[in-house]
Amino acid sequence: MPRPLRVAVVGSGPSGLYAADALASQEALPLEVDVIERLPVPFGLVRYGVAPDHLSIRSVRDTLDKVLDRPGVRFVGNVRVGTDITVTDLHGCFDAVVWTYGASGDRRLGIPGEDLAGSVAATDFVAWYCGHPDADRTLFEDLVPKATGVVVVGIGNVAVDVTRVLAKTVPELDHTDMPQHVLDALGRSQVTDIHVLGRRGPAQATFTTKELRELGELAEADILVDPADLVLDPASQSIVDSDKAVARNLEVMRGWADRVPEGRPRRIHLRFFARPVELRGTEGVQAVVVERTRLTVDGGAEGTGELHEIAANVVVRSVGYRGTALDEVPFDSQRSVIPHVDGRVQRDGAAVPGEYVAGWIKRGPTGIIGTNKKDATATVASLLEDAAAGLLPEPASPDSADFDALLARRGVEVVTTAGWRRIDAAERARGAARGRDRTTIHAAADLLSEARP
Ligand code: NAP
Repeated sequence: MPRPLRVAVVGSGPSGLYAADALASQEALPLEVDVIERLPVPFGLVRYGVAPDHLSIRSVRDTLDKVLDRPGVRFVGNVRVGTDITVTDLHGCFDAVVWTYGASGDRRLGIPGEDLAGSVAATDFVAWYCGHPDADRTLFEDLVPKATGVVVVGIGNVAVDVTRVLAKTVPELDHTDMPQHVLDALGRSQVTDIHVLGRRGPAQATFTTKELRELGELAEADILVDPADLVLDPASQSIVDSDKAVARNLEVMRGWADRVPEGRPRRIHLRFFARPVELRGTEGVQAVVVERTRLTVDGGAEGTGELHEIAANVVVRSVGYRGTALDEVPFDSQRSVIPHVDGRVQRDGAAVPGEYVAGWIKRGPTGIIGTNKKDATATVASLLEDAAAGLLPEPASPDSADFDALLARRGVEVVTTAGWRRIDAAERARGAARGRDRTTIHAAADLLSEARP
């Protein structure tokens, strides 16, 4: 009987768990998959990115969780590649490594005042309201209750999530798994106006209709759209004519432009052809200088020189996630991804058998959760092809006990699948005590303590 092929999947978000699932589903080879995760808990952006009030999308975690019970698959949590173990260590213990660690950084605006107090990255705000262990609680628990005017830069789905969470009342969020301190801070919010800025037009927005529509269904918020922003130039009209999703978005927004505001305590101003050029303030942000834009022939945006100010004491920059480099792993810093050919990592221009990539760190931060399934399955097909062809380099210590012993020698407190199950049970119990399905435990120390037998 040949020894099992050992595969390390680094990252336990959707792409990592879909990769583990695809590996566990094949029957040609005996196989062991260690899903290595730097946090004590699995699911990546399904836990720490999908908005907590989007319960149906978050329920994907039930499907992903089942992967951890598949024969041969282990969760190896609380292990940081680059700190606890090196890439060389991984190649010494596994036949193949699959990088699926996503894109956790944020993109910058590159404008004056961007670093003033009150200017935050959406990635950090989302991490806070989802209860990420690394979130800066002090920052957001101070900022959110003081917020009155907010500018959200960007018109993708993350911008829509952030806007909705800020505009909702606590009763609209109370059923979610948000940590109590997040609900308490949001409950003290004094937000009156949220300005959502798109540098291009409504036909170029990247939000989806279902998410957009929710902004018009909030208990305490009016939505305002300037009908003039919805007048389309021929190029935008042809996008609407050829793309049903964009046409639906326009229909929703035209319905809002016709609405008479009902005088609710909060207002969402959805604004197009508007880009921030400067954040102004002394102690912190007080105003955002916005330039009117117009579309260019190639569909981009250019400034018109027409400026105005929006009063705001919080700015949320929601202009996209960005992949980050890992020591010893090739990185394309232009595109912020790991270079690859068919999922095989490229080193010095050549694809290397034994090293693979899937998900956002392979293709950039785009697509819905399901996109990662196809992507991860394609990468795994390349891996299995290389295994069948005998191309995978032989590791020095291809035994799970050797890997476990290495982690123990480094003093790493590994959270296993059983440890994660204990955290899961503790979160469900905390939620049940408040009439919810679950309440997220946010502090790493508390997660580790719940993981212990
Ligand atoms: P995104 O869809 O790429 O949106 C980024 C936004 O930032 C765009 O409006 C972009 O405008 C704008 N932007 C970029 N640079 C800018 C700049 N310098 N100044 C002003 N605006 C700028 O990214 P995302 O919202 O972070 O979402 C990431 C992915 O996750 C997407 O695929 C999204 O659909 C997905 N997601 C899905 C859900 C859901 O299904 N419910 C929820 C959250 C996220 P331009 O288009 O002009 O570049």
